[in-house]
Amino acid sequence: MSDKKSDVSLEDIVSLCKRRGFVYPGSEIYGGEAGLYDYGPYGVELLNNIKRSWWRRNVHLRDDIVGIDSAMFKHPRVWEASGHVGGFSDPLAECKECNNRIRVDKELAVIGVTADEKMTEAELQKLFDENKDKLKCPNCGKKNFGPVRAFNLLVKSNLGDFTGDDERPVYLPGEACQGIYLNFKNVVDTTRMKIPFGIAQIGKAFRNEISPRNFLFRTREMEQADTQYFVRPNENKEKYEEVKKDRWDWYVSDLGISESKLRWSQHDNLVFYAADAWDIEYDYPSLGFDEVEGIHDRTDYDLTQHTEFSETDLHYRDPQTNEKYIPWVLETSMGMGRIFMAVVSDAYTVEELEDGSSRTVLKLKPELAPVRYAVFPLLKNKPELVEKAREVYKKLSENYVCEFDDNGNIGKRYRRQDEIGTPECIVIDFDTLVDDTVTIRDRDTTKQKRVNISELV
Ligand code: ATP
Repeated sequence: MSDKKSDVSLEDIVSLCKRRGFVYPGSEIYGGEAGLYDYGPYGVELLNNIKRSWWRRNVHLRDDIVGIDSAMFKHPRVWEASGHVGGFSDPLAECKECNNRIRVDKELAVIGVTADEKMTEAELQKLFDENKDKLKCPNCGKKNFGPVRAFNLLVKSNLGDFTGDDERPVYLPGEACQGIYLNFKNVVDTTRMKIPFGIAQIGKAFRNEISPRNFLFRTREMEQADTQYFVRPNENKEKYEEVKKDRWDWYVSDLGISESKLRWSQHDNLVFYAADAWDIEYDYPSLGFDEVEGIHDRTDYDLTQHTEFSETDLHYRDPQTNEKYIPWVLETSMGMGRIFMAVVSDAYTVEELEDGSSRTVLKLKPELAPVRYAVFPLLKNKPELVEKAREVYKKLSENYVCEFDDNGNIGKRYRRQDEIGTPECIVIDFDTLVDDTVTIRDRDTTKQKRVNISELV
């Protein structure tokens, strides 16, 4: 078998995800809605397995981290304290020829010009004007842009506002981590957690991304898996390295992602309160290296902001020394869609077989695979085989996610399971009826062996 992995494109991944029920375009029967996707039957299993793996490493295997699940709607002041109402915006310019909107900072980056995050709209406009002759509309190729404007990314809603003209709108979360800061005091007051400790959460976030694109990479609704680790002031450096290492290890050891497809990237432009910021990037098909997760050293910014805006004292009192301080925060924030895409891309393999045909196989770690065992009766029209296969399927289903399939020839059934990443297929044949043995076929080697049913259960 030879491997043709390097030729894989984003289109191949999107196509497999649709064809095999992993991810569907959102609201498809209505013609679709940009930047929204639905996870299908296999997608939701894979997504849940990735989440479980993340939760296990970050909560269950840690006695210094606890999990929460906060309400999506929050007091409107939360998003003022977080800086989202004032500053959570993308600088955009519209092409006067085709009305396509471009992200000014991103397009400048393409021609090697860095726009500082701290720049005002006027400064950015000046930089844009200086480089205008080098910037072409990616849609129509013309060079005729309107002014640079900031577009707020928060998604508004109207919880409890029955007239629709509330002056203080509620927002859907722009990021999942705010729920953690809001519950910092609750966790300190109600658990035995002492600094240093962390809080973890997987939560939905919504952003009015102007140009959602690249499949699950930039969507308008997403899920983020976050940890916020609280440390004593100025005790951030060493812990930050530990946090970074632990995150990297999860990708490689727990998810089995190839290390050569991952890299670190440090932020050049730090936001004013941050002490350091690194991203883990994955080498996505067609896109190249881009951010999956941000690991940020945020100093005391978040809890200071919420102390000021909520007028609730979020200082921590050290139970031993009685010392009072606002804890510093080390944040890890990963997009579930982006990690899902990385896991599928990394597992996606096209192999040429000895007979000249080829097969697509998702070489997922068995713990992540949407289906752990597929169970087939050799023939559909032999009731005794079907009955026995159903029995084995039922038994295994008590402990694993299994699939029963009696459709088409065995070769086709194997191909289907290969494409969804099922590690092992079990075939019930006439010998099974005599001695309770079955054929078990390995996804990666395609080798088969004979085992007793009792060994499986
Ligand atoms: P980018 O610079 O790509 O817009 P960001 O730096 O704004 O991302 P954060 O606010 O740090 O992203 O969010 C943390 C994580 O959430 C990111 O690493 C990414 O995995 C995910 N994420 C952010 N925006 C989106 C989006 N629009 N669609 C999917 N995932 C996203």
